[in-house]
Amino acid sequence: MFKKILIANRGEIAVRIIRACREMGIVTVAVYSEIDKNALHTQLADESICIGSNKASDSYLNMKNILSATINSGADAIHPGFGFLSENPKFVRMCEECNIVFIGPSSDVIENMGDKSKAREMMINAGVPVVPGSDKILEDFEEVKKMADEIGFPVIIKASNGGGGKGMRIAYTSIELENAYNTARMEAKASFGDDLMYMEKYLVNPKHIEFQILADNFGNIVHLGERDCSMQRNNQKVMEEAPSSIIGQDLRELMGNTAVKGAKFVNYTSAGTMEFLLDNNNNYYFMEMNTRIQVEHPITELITGIDLIKEQIKIAANINLNYKQDNIKIHGHAIECRINAESPKKNFMPSPGEISYINLPGGYGVRNDISIYTGYKIPPNYDSMLGKIIVHANTRDEAINIMKRSLGEYIIKGVETNIDFQYDLISSNEYISGEFTTGYVSEFIKDYI
Ligand code: ADP
Repeated sequence: MFKKILIANRGEIAVRIIRACREMGIVTVAVYSEIDKNALHTQLADESICIGSNKASDSYLNMKNILSATINSGADAIHPGFGFLSENPKFVRMCEECNIVFIGPSSDVIENMGDKSKAREMMINAGVPVVPGSDKILEDFEEVKKMADEIGFPVIIKASNGGGGKGMRIAYTSIELENAYNTARMEAKASFGDDLMYMEKYLVNPKHIEFQILADNFGNIVHLGERDCSMQRNNQKVMEEAPSSIIGQDLRELMGNTAVKGAKFVNYTSAGTMEFLLDNNNNYYFMEMNTRIQVEHPITELITGIDLIKEQIKIAANINLNYKQDNIKIHGHAIECRINAESPKKNFMPSPGEISYINLPGGYGVRNDISIYTGYKIPPNYDSMLGKIIVHANTRDEAINIMKRSLGEYIIKGVETNIDFQYDLISSNEYISGEFTTGYVSEFIKDYI
């Protein structure tokens, strides 16, 4: 087992990883930007190293500084968390060259799955159903037009290297196509540095269903059931639950086995997620694979009793999975709400500033993964997610009641948050029915603002 792990991240996920390491008896090294000198992860780790100024490109994305910090601290491995360098094959190669273990899959797998157009192609070869669409990068608008005519409107134009819901635009008719293509390209260029685009049929009001995969270095691979992440705003998840209330055991097995088949085909190792869209006829289509731990991983932990961060660490240390698919059992229901510093009534504008007071909800079935405290100053430099609240109960109805009770107790003063918005959302009839699709939150917001 590793003696010392450097955590190349910040915020709640860095804290989450530090906690897992401490329970495993592993020494932790935090890295931080100047403005994060007093952040919780900086304080909680056994050692902390400043890696640069506030801009992410100078610190949390600064590969050389992070590798120097790792070598200087004597850490054996790096946990990348999510975002930042977690899906950067160049960084993983640099780790491999420096003999530092990157806690995640190999650089080749990350590279292949990070290119969404290529990932689609590989899944087709694996026999996994994909959303109908282009089988390669579309070079120019002529190709875009031709492809749209072929697959039929509506279509969605997506950045091959995209993420975080950015660099994608829908065109419902041919009139909208050019504008959609140009804006998606511009956003992709600004966010990811290139504008390689592909196209898919746009499925109207599907469910976003994703499967958690765990695979060790010895060919053992399992899925841990699904998460329903259909509650989204601007293609970004707001609230997630596991299991999905509309998936029965047969469909779970079918989709889970497909997810495992796809992951096996690309020689996947570590924790990963196969994302699918599911239509109302129970047809499901692969959308993308995320080769890292995800924000919403705790809901899977609560229904399976498996600590995903510890599993990632053990797999990276060449320990084999000590269970098989048949041993994975799903218990009860878990829901997660993301807690953001933002103003829902002002178009969800970020709301950085100083937390003057915080009261975290607690009690039976409640887990808080959060990195703020009274007096903490939320920097404007990073994303607005402060953490999450996750609840677990025997049934979905009970879980909803615990979440409502908890959101009601939750107090953050000094900055605006989405806590009341989440309360209203989870109280809505459509959410309670369980039949919401990816279009629901934007409908809800129309009446809300
Ligand atoms: P990102 O990597 O940026 O998160 P994804 O490919 O995972 O992008 O898509 C994010 C969300 O966008 C999905 O969960 C879904 O709601 C929507 N979406 C993406 N592709 C399609 C599609 N072909 N049809 C309908 N919705 C889609």
